[in-house]
Amino acid sequence: MSGTAWDLTGLLQAEVEALMVGLGLPGYRGRQIFQWVQARRATSLETMTSLSRQLRAELSSRVAVSRPVVARAQRATDGTRKFLFGLHDGEEIESVLIPDEDRLTACISTQVGCPLACRFCLTGLMGMRRNLTAAEIVGEVLLLQDQLEAAERISNLVLMGMGEPLLNFPQVERALRILCDPHGANFSARRITLSTAGHGPGIKKLAESDLGVNLAVSLNATTDAVRDQLMPINKRWPIAVLLEACRAYPLPDRRRLTFEYVLLDGVNDSPDDAKRLVRLLRGIHCKINLIPFNATPDLPDRPSPRERIDLFQRVLGDARLTATIRESRGRDISAACGMLRVERERGGPAPSG
Ligand code: SAH
Repeated sequence: MSGTAWDLTGLLQAEVEALMVGLGLPGYRGRQIFQWVQARRATSLETMTSLSRQLRAELSSRVAVSRPVVARAQRATDGTRKFLFGLHDGEEIESVLIPDEDRLTACISTQVGCPLACRFCLTGLMGMRRNLTAAEIVGEVLLLQDQLEAAERISNLVLMGMGEPLLNFPQVERALRILCDPHGANFSARRITLSTAGHGPGIKKLAESDLGVNLAVSLNATTDAVRDQLMPINKRWPIAVLLEACRAYPLPDRRRLTFEYVLLDGVNDSPDDAKRLVRLLRGIHCKINLIPFNATPDLPDRPSPRERIDLFQRVLGDARLTATIRESRGRDISAACGMLRVERERGGPAPSG
């Protein structure tokens, strides 16, 4: 890509239109080109056959369409597909496709690495490398869609890959607006879930943005003493402050907040924790996603035994809280957050997908 070319992947439809008008072309050309890039997933002007050859030649030095590249792909026996995508500067991120009965969910990254250093998270061990641009975030989704058969379509997006989306809010917001454009990939906000470690002001900003996406909050503990240890961000925005921001999050009809809770053996998984959780969440329209911990030798904790997870769920259920246990997907392909990348740095198992 030449240094002066505009990267169409990260531009809103209105911006592509303005760009075309600036080049002396009619605005509708902008919409056409936006459709080519975002809906038809064209990666070069040559394939945009509804534009004249002359126009394509004129534009060729002015615009480009960026995309990450597939550095590595793995397919698990349960159909989960995990990708390591390479970026223009040599950094790598993870993106996952998770097929379910009636859905096909794409789990995408928003940062290279993460500054939050949660104790149970491999991405946290990497530290923060940099934010992704909107073009890179959109590019992840388009490239994932490219990996599918013609009849398959990504139905849901979860921002639960590498990084903390609310620490990269401007680029995340831009990417989501591009992805939700009816002339583009046309995702509906109600099928998008942003997951946060609990960034207080970010939740407020998201609420004010009117994006209308679902919010998931990684709570993971019921006392500040434990949460401080697991998630250093808690020292800045402790549980009470976080839940206050959650209570203020505007939820469209019948939708609920999600609280994620990774169960760590002997750390946050006691029946008392479950009872405290019930008290903490009282009055919040929510569901709870209990996540079995994906352990690796690099992380200090161990997963809770299944009986303890079941008991935890029962205590919540008895208090009429909806709690589901997330079935661990892609176990045979290191599908936990940050695992593939760590493996690659060590020269781990060869690609199988
Ligand atoms: N920063 C955001 C999104 C990335 S983490 C957030 O914290 O929500 C996405 C989810 O994966 C979080 O709920 C987190 O608690 C969970 N997670 C991270 N490492 C995990 C592991 N080793 N096993 C199970 N879940 C993990």
